[in-house]
Amino acid sequence: MPTPGPKSVTRSRRIQKTKLAATLNRQKSLARFRDEEFDLAIIGAGINGAAVARDASMRGLKVALIDRGDFAGATSSRSSKLIHGGFRYLPQGQFKLVYEALRERERLRHRTAPHLVHPIHFLFPVYRRRGFNRFTMSMGLTLYDLFARMPFKEWHSSLNAAEVRETEPALSRVGLTGGAMYYDAWADDARVTFENVLDADLHDAAVANYAAVESFSMADGKIASARVRDLIGGAACEVRAKKFLNAAGPWVDDIRRMDDPAAKPCVRLTKGVHLVFARTILPVRESLVLADEHGRIVFLMPHDRYVLVGTTDTDFTGDPASVRTEIGDVEYLLAVLAESLPGIKLTNADVATSFAGLRALIREEKEAPSSVPREEVILESPSGLITVAGGKFTTHRAIAQKLVDQVMKRLGRPVGVCPTLATPLPGARPIPPQNDAGGGAAMRSIPAPSAEILKARYGTRAPIVARIASRRPELAEPLSRNCPAIGAEVVNAVGSEMALTVGDFLIRRTSLSWRSPAEAEAAAGAVARIMAAELGWNRAREEAEVASFTHEQQSRRVVA
Ligand SMILES: Cc1cc2nc3c(=O)[nH]c(=O)nc-3n(C[C@H](O)[C@H](O)[C@H](O)COP(=O)(O)OP(=O)(O)OC[C@H]3O[C@@H](n4cnc5c(N)ncnc54)[C@H](O)[C@@H]3O)c2cc1C
Repeated sequence: MPTPGPKSVTRSRRIQKTKLAATLNRQKSLARFRDEEFDLAIIGAGINGAAVARDASMRGLKVALIDRGDFAGATSSRSSKLIHGGFRYLPQGQFKLVYEALRERERLRHRTAPHLVHPIHFLFPVYRRRGFNRFTMSMGLTLYDLFARMPFKEWHSSLNAAEVRETEPALSRVGLTGGAMYYDAWADDARVTFENVLDADLHDAAVANYAAVESFSMADGKIASARVRDLIGGAACEVRAKKFLNAAGPWVDDIRRMDDPAAKPCVRLTKGVHLVFARTILPVRESLVLADEHGRIVFLMPHDRYVLVGTTDTDFTGDPASVRTEIGDVEYLLAVLAESLPGIKLTNADVATSFAGLRALIREEKEAPSSVPREEVILESPSGLITVAGGKFTTHRAIAQKLVDQVMKRLGRPVGVCPTLATPLPGARPIPPQNDAGGGAAMRSIPAPSAEILKARYGTRAPIVARIASRRPELAEPLSRNCPAIGAEVVNAVGSEMALTVGDFLIRRTSLSWRSPAEAEAAAGAVARIMAAELGWNRAREEAEVASFTHEQQSRRVVA
């Protein structure tokens, strides 16, 4: 067993040097699930499970990471994509959450994930008798900038009504008293999750998607193993581990009931829906913080040729797998847009796509959904099952640090220095020249727009994909007209990123399903063709994959 502490950091550096081009290997992981005993088995590869797997494996623990869907297949690909402190939590007195989140935002933006976390500049208009007034907003944003220790040039600026009108002429002028511009950050949530999974793999974790935990077996009152079924091959095995972590997001209470059938629910689920519009029909200049009639915040964020608008916050009961956008969600968001941008006429037929996710919030019955604290819940059952739920995507690293500290103590290992405090995610690590293996030349050999696409998505790992494209020039081209993804990425996603379906690629490895919904639909055939060649699908499977993705994408355009 590797010794944690300084030695594990050395080991971590060694692994980073030798395993730069890691290829996630599902069959190998499934065999390891069967054959090995792990220090920690993690149920759920959303951001919380993935971040714990990364931290724990970097500290030298032997880790299994198991998800019954794709990585980031649930909440962690359906967030508002903001890496933020959550300005709106300040009036609720959640100072600690906002402070911690802003510190994590800055760490991700400047040190650990600068290739994935980008600044976003919001215009926040203020209206008479709706939400914040100019004074409370200015006080709040001053605190926000101070917590983040922003350089002075990035501090918020207050605007009068005329300046707000000039900055974003589309905004309603009725009752407008002024506003502010401030910096926050955004990221492709699924890709951040995936890079945590990848780094866990680089540090020898056994990782598999489409593998479901079905039950636990006990020995001396403690969980000794989990029964895991491979949802592709159908076989089941017992995964043995010293500790088990339940990071199953909206399903945490189901997993807790596998451990203790009498366990009371610990989370309350609320639904959040986002809509996507083509920028041509929602032609705003700025990212905006809008408010409904009660002052509840709705974000509007242009991303390239589309605009993301959300979110809603309503209680949800029922099967979490069935969560979807409903007409009431669309009507609510259209009403906020109509009130805030009166010159822009939108109907539900204009929705290019949408997505719906579930927050797992601390169970506090009396509060309205928007007022329930966003901090994480961490519980440990008498049989040793540790459960984590909620929290914010932004604080995933800090949540993982807390959890892994707890696991190290339970295992009687020294906690040591948390390696994720300073270690960049894989795509932000410099590639040493001896490991370049023609990567630079490959980047130069493909068309410049394709090279830019790769740099934006893979950071310093872009040459891994560029090498595929330079060997097979037909894969250096966009997958469909205006599509910001190239064929070589499909080959890489299948060979190295454990993508098994067209949706895995278009929804989670590239986020094209919401960032370029029309282009994603047009690209589905090309993606399926390349996947068929790589995975040996027959024609029927190829067609079924295209039909399945197209159906899912079309069902996200909700009409009455
Ligand atoms: C609408 C919305 C907007 C949000 N916006 C933001 C934001 O802008 N910024 C921010 O910081 N946070 C935001 N959040 C919060 C953030 O997205 C969540 O806190 C985070 O994604 C939760 O991740 P998770 O890993 O706990 O859960 P999930 O991502 O849901 O992962 C749980 C995983 O467990 C797996 N699983 C379940 N059962 C089993 C089983 N039996 N066996 C194996 N695997 C299983 C599932 O397949 C799933 O992949 C938002 C949340 C929502 C809903």
